[in-house]
Amino acid sequence: MVPIDTDLKFLSGVGPARAELLAKELGLRTLDDLIHFFPYRYLDRSRFYKIAEIDSTTSYIQVKGKITGYQITGEGRAKRLIAHFTDGGDTIDLIFFKGYQYITERYRVGTEYVVFGKPNCFNHTFSFVHPDIELPDPSRQVGFMPLYHTSEKLKNKYITSKTIQKYVYEAIRSTEVRVNETLPQDLIAKCQLMPLRNALVAIHFPRSAKELENARLRLKFEELFYIQLSILRQSSLHRNKYKGVVFEKVGGYFNDFYKKCLPFDLTNAQKRVLREIREDTRTGRQMNRLLQGDVGSGKTIVALMSMLLAVDNGCQTCILAPTEILAAQHYESISHMVEPLQLQVRLLTGSTKKKERETLHESLRDGSLQILVGTHAVLEDEVQFKNLGFVVIDEQHRFGVQQRSRMWLKNAVPPHVLVMTATPIPRTLAMTVYGDLDVSVIDELPPGRKPIKTMHVFENNRERLTQFMRSEIKQGRQIYVVYPLIEESEKSDMKNLMNGFSQMKELFPEYSVSMVHGKMKPAEKDAAMQLFVSGQAQILVATTVIEVGVNVPNASVMVIENAERFGLSQLHQLRGRVGRGADQSYCVLVSRYELGADTRKRLSIMTETNDGFEIAEADLKLRGPGDLDGTMQSGLPFDLQIANLSTDGLLLQQARGEVEKILAGDPLLAASEHTVLLDNLQRKTKGVVNWSSIS
Ligand code: ADP
Ligand code: MG
Repeated sequence: MVPIDTDLKFLSGVGPARAELLAKELGLRTLDDLIHFFPYRYLDRSRFYKIAEIDSTTSYIQVKGKITGYQITGEGRAKRLIAHFTDGGDTIDLIFFKGYQYITERYRVGTEYVVFGKPNCFNHTFSFVHPDIELPDPSRQVGFMPLYHTSEKLKNKYITSKTIQKYVYEAIRSTEVRVNETLPQDLIAKCQLMPLRNALVAIHFPRSAKELENARLRLKFEELFYIQLSILRQSSLHRNKYKGVVFEKVGGYFNDFYKKCLPFDLTNAQKRVLREIREDTRTGRQMNRLLQGDVGSGKTIVALMSMLLAVDNGCQTCILAPTEILAAQHYESISHMVEPLQLQVRLLTGSTKKKERETLHESLRDGSLQILVGTHAVLEDEVQFKNLGFVVIDEQHRFGVQQRSRMWLKNAVPPHVLVMTATPIPRTLAMTVYGDLDVSVIDELPPGRKPIKTMHVFENNRERLTQFMRSEIKQGRQIYVVYPLIEESEKSDMKNLMNGFSQMKELFPEYSVSMVHGKMKPAEKDAAMQLFVSGQAQILVATTVIEVGVNVPNASVMVIENAERFGLSQLHQLRGRVGRGADQSYCVLVSRYELGADTRKRLSIMTETNDGFEIAEADLKLRGPGDLDGTMQSGLPFDLQIANLSTDGLLLQQARGEVEKILAGDPLLAASEHTVLLDNLQRKTKGVVNWSSIS
């Protein structure tokens, strides 16, 4: 038996030089790496095609027949070798641009061969360019042939997909390599999974589509299972290590607020989430909860009431927002709402003056400040609390997991953490990237909201848009006009923004137009923003700095310029800036006329639905999980090789369920049948920093 971590150079046909190249180009160092280097596609070798069957939809196929003769045509770079090939009925040309002598000597006229490849079409005639040619071998004519990615450098050294196939064949079929099963036997039996060794053989050399499917299923399950095991085990370890602050009672602040200050009835969804938080915080475990709710669903009030619960139990609390504008808005609305309760509420941001900051720090340390609203500035080490019991982080995607764990450290007993996001996260991601958080959802908007109407107009139809804007302003409404600003094209984006600003001023001379963008100083930005918030300016021209959280209920129109350049979730976030008052609101997506299929799809999803979850799912499908932003990618304990978060949701759920059952029965994985889990977990996640365990 050969150990699976044997260096590739010892595999027959490889040797030191090629091993080095494989390591450098494909990251393959051991037999194990090679066996886990899965094909990207398969060639249909389940039958021979007739040449007459070939049409423009034909993929990789095989035909059987004879070469009837060779011919060299063209001069210089157009020179080529043509082999005329017939299957007895029709003929097709095999075309070669190099290796003439080798080919004519190796492949004899009149001998029967099997030719593989994807037919090319040129001038309505099909041909094979540099196809693979083999003698018929009855033992290998069934099933599918694997195709592997290679690189130019490898191909130059004659390491082609076919060479890799041979190595893999050698490694898994011929060599007595020891493949240890990575899942417990009873789990395999219960979930009817293929044993690992069989799955690895079948993923490279499937004998049928069914077998391939089963192999893929098994390998995907394994990946998802270990992702879940890693996350859930960490959080259970964390839970055992840290006890949470116990909120024993619902006290005066909470009750008074509920009776006297609450300006509306809570929705059922809001009540449910409050109950969930109440349950968590009375148990003695530390809460880490993700609150998802579409823009405008009323997360702030839930956060505030949870904070009052903490204050009732003698704790300080704090809410973090990703921008100064948003922090200031939270500060104003919170201090306004709790005014009758006579609580100490303060704001801390990067622009808080030194003197003020000092007294603020002092009041945090002596415990007299009960509610702190702030930005990243709160994370600074010098900000110390006397007794921090509850932390709210608004708009999680701007804060990383690292920040969350920094807040844990602000108290001897880590505070409860409520993370709020308005970017609905598809379930699969919630279970993986945020897998250590419990999830609450507000899936109901406050009553009386009119769904926002969304339209898509082309740039060349601007006149109608202008008329529409004017009629809305005449009715007393305000309008956002948003431009993309992306770092790579910052200069031209900035120019677009400025042009847009002057254009608006020209088109609406009778009204006041304000502008904000990320390059402005905070004070300038606030002043410009204030013009719009106070209603002095009717139009706000902006970049995405307004994306997060700004609340201007009188704004009823969101015009998004160059809408084709925004992602779905960003468009949805921007749209959420309107529709906050009682009036009918509109979102207008302005794009150029020529659009790619994906972009067209994105824009049409926006006009079809207002449902954030639907949009998030569509977004994940369109972009694919490989394209998630950095924090999300790095949120995974290891990279997924075969499972796909956008399409394997059900399997993920199944895997998570199995992990939960195992951990419930054996939290430390101490049972002998679980040794295999600990070993593989360690192997798969080695070298990965796990932020949730930093303490
Ligand atoms: P988001 O979830 O986007 O943070 P907010 O908390 O800012 O939403 O709430 C949006 C608006 O809805 C606010 O003006 C808030 O006062 C209002 N609101 C929240 N809950 C309710 C409710 N139950 N009934 C009526 N209005 C509500
Ligand atoms: Mg909000």
